[in-house]
Amino acid sequence: MGVLRRYKELLPVTPSTPDVNLEEGSTPLIPLPRVGARLGIQLYGKFEGCNPSGSFKDRGMVLAVAKALEEGKRALICASTGNTSASAAAYAASAGVPCFVLLPAGKVAMGKLAQALMYGATVIAVRGNFDRALELARAAAERAGLAMVNSVNPYRLIGQRTGAGEVCEALGERAPAGKGLRAPDWHAIPVGNAGNISAYWAGYQEYLKLGKIDKAPRMMGFQAAGAAPLVTGQPCPDPETVATAIRIGNPVSAHLARAAVQESGGEFNSVTDGEILSAQRLLASEGGVFAEPASCAPLAGLVKLKGLGKLPEGITVTMVLTGNGLKDPDTALSSLEQSGGARPIEIGDTEEELMRVLEGRR
Ligand SMILES: *Cc1c(COP(=O)(O)O)cnc(C)c1O
Repeated sequence: MGVLRRYKELLPVTPSTPDVNLEEGSTPLIPLPRVGARLGIQLYGKFEGCNPSGSFKDRGMVLAVAKALEEGKRALICASTGNTSASAAAYAASAGVPCFVLLPAGKVAMGKLAQALMYGATVIAVRGNFDRALELARAAAERAGLAMVNSVNPYRLIGQRTGAGEVCEALGERAPAGKGLRAPDWHAIPVGNAGNISAYWAGYQEYLKLGKIDKAPRMMGFQAAGAAPLVTGQPCPDPETVATAIRIGNPVSAHLARAAVQESGGEFNSVTDGEILSAQRLLASEGGVFAEPASCAPLAGLVKLKGLGKLPEGITVTMVLTGNGLKDPDTALSSLEQSGGARPIEIGDTEEELMRVLEGRR
């Protein structure tokens, strides 16, 4: 069941809201016992890469698009580091409306660009960074009467809250008592435009108010060192990081994210590109989950905090693995290359050659 139906009591869905649905949400909370053991914690990854367009953006996009159609809007526009455009383009295709996406030229992972084009969006590459593309999209939405589906659209964040409830349900099912809902001790999440951390916090707060959980987690936000305005406290005019999904210098939802971290007793931390790529390899090779670089900032952060003696022993931590690793194979392959890691071993077509490789590897 898609997000609009599954969560209709929690969402502003009315009888006249169109039933937009790509069966988004209900993503798995994957246990990561080997990685958790290294860190001395119970570690889980909420694998949002299982959403239809391969990122968490679908949870909010489905609501934003449904409400835009309900309000009579007939075309969508967004600025994107990649995943918002893939998601918007997918829902626009499903609903049969045009979609315009503004991307920072040359700074979008190939898989995401391929998605937007395949779904049939008009892709406009802006020679400027994401923050500038967002300003342009906002101005154009205003002038042309288009539905703006960036996370400045309030429905995006409302839809994204649904992830928090799913985390609590899944942890509840795994708890020894086996009943009820349970929040993690820490909720670790990458922060770009800062919408998702704000949405998860709102989701946990909602469940707390409804009495479904008895405590909310600490919200631990992780940014890339080259794009860390919430860590430094200053907008970053020239954001740069291999984690393109969080290459954002002036987060739209900074105020909400600061409140989430403050109210929950959490923290913002930054991690270097090297730490992110190393966490990405660790998550894949010891977790069995291939997530895109931005999604691995939280794991990089946990590793770093562990090294600093700041990761409490035995706590339960959920990380939001925000996007699928398949979206950006170039970065993954060059990271393996640079770390002296795996590459294909080419052989002739004889059994002997094959056996030599197998014996050398056991
Ligand atoms: C959008 C995105 C983020 C950042 O989320 P914000 O809500 O902008 O903070 C992180 N990871 C991935 C894969 C994304 O697509």
